[in-house]
Parts: sequence; structure tokens; C-alpha cells
Amino acid sequence: CFCQVTGTLDDCACDVETIDRFNNKEIFPKLQKLLSSDYFRFYKVNLNNPCPFWTDHSQCGLKYCAVKPCTLVSFSKFIHLIFSYKVLEKAASQDIEECEKAEKLGAVNGSLSDETRQALQEWKKHDDESDRFCMLDDEDSPKSQYVDLLLNPERFTGYKGPEAWRIWNSIYEENCFKPYSVKRPLNPLASNSGLCVEKRAFFRLISGLHASINIHLSARYLLDENWFEMKWGHNVSEFQLRFDKELTEGEGPKRLRNLYFLYLIELRALAKILPYFERPAFHLYTGQHTQDNENKKLLLELLHVAKSFPLHFDETALFAGNNKEAMKLKEDFKLTFKNISRIMDCVECFKCRLWGKLQTQGLGSALKILFSERQIDAMPNTSNTNPSFQLSRQEIVSLFNAFGRISTSVRELENFRSLLSNLKQ
Ligand code: FAD
Repeated sequence: CFCQVTGTLDDCACDVETIDRFNNKEIFPKLQKLLSSDYFRFYKVNLNNPCPFWTDHSQCGLKYCAVKPCTLVSFSKFIHLIFSYKVLEKAASQDIEECEKAEKLGAVNGSLSDETRQALQEWKKHDDESDRFCMLDDEDSPKSQYVDLLLNPERFTGYKGPEAWRIWNSIYEENCFKPYSVKRPLNPLASNSGLCVEKRAFFRLISGLHASINIHLSARYLLDENWFEMKWGHNVSEFQLRFDKELTEGEGPKRLRNLYFLYLIELRALAKILPYFERPAFHLYTGQHTQDNENKKLLLELLHVAKSFPLHFDETALFAGNNKEAMKLKEDFKLTFKNISRIMDCVECFKCRLWGKLQTQGLGSALKILFSERQIDAMPNTSNTNPSFQLSRQEIVSLFNAFGRISTSVRELENFRSLLSNLKQ
């Protein structure tokens, strides 16, 4: 019953090996290639939104928390002019080139073809705001900036202690349907928890996201640092502290299962959204036509592979029925998820905020897809007329990059498994 959400959601045996094999061989390599393309690597984000929930948060001074946005282009040009050192010159001109690409992307607004842009006003009428599961940044705000995700990898930043706990606490305690304190971890998934299946599913998604973040920081840990270089790599003891059964009183393995649960939800969303991307009117537009066409081909290949997965999650058991109770539950689910995406503006560490925002937005887009079956089905297959379902470039970029993070976490688990077995030998 692994992929069927039923009343016994938590008792299901996880067919982890099937997912590992499928992800590591079929999905991961294609996804990595796609995410390194220009369309997917530049993400527009407002990292300067004020925290809407509390005012006493401090500025994070950790150097590994800094994000390098593309406004640095003028600084790079400056460096380029005054330094003749080959190394710096090369790095600076690369920065200029990459950032100029990002600015160009902004000028054309990515995913929309000429025809669709003309129809934008019409689309707006169909853009069902209420179906969004998360708050999107205002892309037109001068505070929103392009960030090159490849230059800002998710990894160990040193963000921890009361500040980080306050965020997780606020997510679990106030926004996860379940009174839950991170200082006194309970087991919210115990089958006698009395929570309905949707609320347990919600908790599992957030816990899966938390697990993924903690896998990344353990896999790209700062192992050593000197004046000349920083050495990043796997920190097996950090991983064990967070996920080993004995060291976490049995919680670690459950958290990893939640990661797989999240993986399945996002995979299912990708499989369902295939018809949207198959439309001839859809372009991964960056202006480089050959590259854009190749990327679309790769994207469709990836989505066909996603669709072929034999054990797809069945979301129809969630919010089943059209009764008032199910509708109210869906509304609560949406509001709670939106709140979590707003909490991301309270994360002091900018690097953590960037990836936290991207991943909650990506999950929000996946949920939007899963619960828009009617609109997706109503989409014409071949004609270029207005689709009844839309995704903005920001939603597309976050959807695929968020799945990229989860897919990488699953891949990293294999690395940790083999590092641990080497240690034992
Ligand atoms: P935490 O991870 O802070 O967890 C707090 C408590 O929550 C634990 O004691 C446990 O009871 C419970 N818990 C832990 N994991 C789970 C789970 N999967 N499911 C349910 N409950 C759980 N740090 C970085 O180095 N790099 C990053 O990119 C980064 N990104 C972050 C993004 C966000 C949005 C946030 C809030 C934090 C981020 N952090 C990042 C910090 C990191 O997640 C930890 O908070 C930090 O490393 C301190 O870890 P900890 O051991 O104190 O436990």
C-alpha cells in the first residue's frame, strides 16, 4: 500500500529500493542536466520581504549564508576593469556573462510564447488564485532579483540554534495541524494520533522537506577551511546524528520515509502535468532557439519517465468527496501551506531562505497540480488556444528545482549508505 494513501497511511511498508533504483538511474541524471540549463538556473526571488510574524529577528552574519545575486554584475565589471590577474578576470567575465543572461531572461518573461503573451489578459481571468498553495513573490517588485542557483548551492551554512528552531517550531507547532514541540519531539505519525489522513500527509511533507535540507547540509558540509580554499563534503557523523535509529530514538528512519513520501508526491505532480508541457505553444523560452528546443525535448523525456513509474501515489483519497467537510479541509490545508511559505521570510540566513522559499514554492506548485485535475484534463491537446491551467515561469522553475533537491537527497542517501558500510568494514 506504499503509494496508496489510505486510512493506514503510516503503516505502509516503504518500497524504498524501487524508488532508489528509479531515481538514481532514470530521474537524477536527466534532471541534473535540465537544471543546469539557463531556463532553470535563474530564479527570481525577493529575499528582502519583512518577516510577517515577528519583528525581533536578527540579521544573520554567517558568511556561508550570503547569496550572490545578479546585481553584482556592475561590481564584476569593476573587478574586470581593474584587475589583470587572469584568474580573477576569468571569474569576473563569467559572472558578467551569466548575470547578463539572467537579465535577458527577465526582459522576455520566460515561459510565455508571443501568442500566449497576447492572451495574457484573458488568462488572468482563469488564473485561479485561490488554487495556489503558496505565496509567490511579486516578480515585478524592484526588490526581486535573479539568483543563479548553480552559484549558490544548498549546503552547510552554520545556521542553527534558537533562530533555526524558532522557524521549525513555528512550522510544526502552529502550522502543521499538530501541537508539536521541536524541543520535545513527539511522534505525530503514531496511528493513534487521531489526525485524519490529509493532516498526517501534510505533516509528512513538511517533515520530508526538513529531512531533505538536513541531508544536504550533511552531504555538503564544510570539512575544512583555510585562506585559500574551503573543502566541502560528506560528514557521516552529522548524518548519523540526525538520522540514525539509535541516536534519534527511532525518529530518524521515519523522517527518511517522509522524504520518500515527499518524493512520491512531487513525482506524481510531474507525471500529471505532462500534457501542459506537451502543448506546441509551450516553450522553455530563453531566446536560444536550438537550446530551448533541446531542453523541451529533455523535459518531456523526463516527464515521460516520471509517468512510467509503476508505484504512483494516489492522491484521489485526499479530500475525497465534494462534501462541505472535505472542502473546508482543503481550504485549511491551503491556508496552512501558504502560512509556511510566508514563514520562509523569517529565516535569517539568506542562503537557507533562498532554498527554503524555492522548495516551499515548488511543493506549492506540485500541490496546485495535484488538485487541479479538472483544469488539466480540460486542456486541449494540440491546439494553441488558452489552456485552462497555467503555471508561471517562477512556478515551473521552483517545481523542477524543488524536485531536484529531493531527487538529490535520495541519491545522497545511497552515498551515505556506502560510506557507512565502508566505515563498518
Ligand atoms: P533541527 O534540524 O533544527 O531540528 C529541530 C528539531 O526538529 C529536532 O530536534 C527534531 O526534534 C525535529 N526534527 C528534525 N528533523 C525533523 C524531521 N525531518 N521531521 C520532523 N521533525 C524533525 N542549515 C544549513 O546548514 N544549510 C541550509 O541550507 C539550511 N537551510 C535551512 C532552511 C530552513 C527553512 C530552516 C528553518 C533551517 C535551515 N537550516 C539550514 C538549519 C537546519 O535545518 C537545522 O535547523 C540546523 O542545522 C540545526 O539542527 P538541529 O540538529 O538543531 O535540529
